[in-house]
Amino acid sequence: MIKELSLKTGVEDFHDITRAVAEVVRESGITEGTCLVYCPHTTAGITINENADPDVVTDLLYGLGQAYPESAHYRHAEGNSKAHLKASAVGSSITVPIIGGRLLLGTWQAIFFCEFDGPRSRRYVVCITSKSDY
Ligand code: ZN
Repeated sequence: MIKELSLKTGVEDFHDITRAVAEVVRESGITEGTCLVYCPHTTAGITINENADPDVVTDLLYGLGQAYPESAHYRHAEGNSKAHLKASAVGSSITVPIIGGRLLLGTWQAIFFCEFDGPRSRRYVVCITSKSDY
């Protein structure tokens, strides 16, 4: 099962999409398998991290900003190279096992859509594969 979802983002932010992804898993009816979440954009990404303390996301954005600051040395004419760097750093997909019809996420884990060059209308794809398809 493959489903495309969309969202509206801010300038630079993380969106907790765990519930939306879990709903696709539920709709699929698959009890054992894998769930892949993919971002088809070059200045946004997908990651798993903590959602219990919102300061974690704040610190992730701060750390990425420190690691990939604005620079006069970038050559990409669009002027958003730091967003491309951050998107590559977090990656464009994650995979989570499905067991008992649920995402096998840790207690503190959540799935985030990461915007680095917004605000924009974005989309992401959830691909559910059943163990029987392996
Ligand atoms: Zn660009």
